Amino acid sequence: MAAWARAVRGVLLDISGVLYDSGGDGGGAPIAGSAEAVRRIKASGLKLQFCTNETQATREKFVKKLQGLGFDISVPEVTAPAPAACRILKERGLRPHLLVHNDLVPEFAELDKANPNCVVIGDAAENFTYANLNEAFRVLIGMEKPVLIALGRGRYYKETDGLKLDVGAYMKALEYACDVEAEVVGKPAKPFFESALAAMGVPPQQAIMIGDDIVNDVGGAQQCGMRAVQVRTGKYSIQKKEGAVCFILKKCRDSATKAVEEMKSSSFQGGCPGSNSPLHLALRSWIKVGQFLLGLQRQEAELQHGADRRCKSFSSQSSPPGLLAFQPWGLLSSALLL
Ligand SMILES: [Mg+2]
Repeated sequence: MAAWARAVRGVLLDISGVLYDSGGDGGGAPIAGSAEAVRRIKASGLKLQFCTNETQATREKFVKKLQGLGFDISVPEVTAPAPAACRILKERGLRPHLLVHNDLVPEFAELDKANPNCVVIGDAAENFTYANLNEAFRVLIGMEKPVLIALGRGRYYKETDGLKLDVGAYMKALEYACDVEAEVVGKPAKPFFESALAAMGVPPQQAIMIGDDIVNDVGGAQQCGMRAVQVRTGKYSIQKKEGAVCFILKKCRDSATKAVEEMKSSSFQGGCPGSNSPLHLALRSWIKVGQFLLGLQRQEAELQHGADRRCKSFSSQSSPPGLLAFQPWGLLSSALLL
C-alpha cells in the first residue's frame, strides 16, 4: 500500500449518494454495502466524520433516519451546514430571514429572526415556491448591504425517484437578482472541511474525503489539502455524462483480494502529455496515486472529453492531490484498510 494511504488516520464521508439515496416513503434507500463499509472503517480504528450538505432536516432527525436505515452513526459524528451557519450568525450578530425546509427551522430556534439583516437559504425543497423566493428577494434587496448565506451550493442531487434541483440553483437566482455573492457554508467551503477535520482531530494531510460529487466533495477536499475518492454511486453517472468527471479508472476491481494483489505490482507507466496545464498537473498527480495504490496497467487512465472546464476548479494548487474513482464499496473500504 502507498505510504500516504498508510498515513491516513481519518475519513470524511459524504452521505447522500454515497451511503444512501434519499426520497421515497421510507426516507431513502441504503446503497448496497455502505452500512458495512461504515462498520469496517470504524472497526479499523480510523477516525470517521460524516460530512454532509444535508439541510432538509435537523441533525437529530437526519441521524435518526440513517440509524433506521441500518447505519452506525451519531449526532456528534455529523458535520452539517446548519449548525455551522448558526455559529456564524451568532458571531456576527445576524438575524436571518430563513428560506429553508420546514424540518430545518428548529436548528435556528435560538436566533433572533425579527427585523432580518441577512437571508439564509438551504435546500427548501417544496418551500422553493415563487412566493417564498420573491419574499427572500425583497428582504435581501431591501438591505443596505445584502448578506446572503447559502447552506451549500450544490446544483442537484439524486433521490430514489430521480434528480432534484439543489440549493445552488436557487442561490444563483437570488445572487443574480440582487447582484450579491452568497457566502457558502457547507461543502465545498474550506472552513467547513476544516471544522469536520477538527472534529476528528486529524490534519488534512492524514485524511481522505469520500464522496460522489466532483466539485463539492472532491474539489472542496482538495482545496483543503486532502486527498479524495469519488465513488460511482449517487450523481456520479450524471456528472460523468456532462464531462464533469475529469478522469476515471476504466476498470473497477471486483474484490479486495484482487485490488491488494494489484497494489503490489506497480507497472503503470503513465503516458501523460508534457504540459503544465492544471488538467495535466491534476492528471499526473492522479497517475502517481494510481501507481502507488493500485499498480494500474498501462493506459488505464482515460481522459474524459470536455473535462478542461471542470478541472479548472481544482487548479489553484500547484500539486493537487489525487482523485480516484471506485465503485464497489467493498473494494473501497478494503483498499483503505488492508
Ligand atoms: Mg453526495
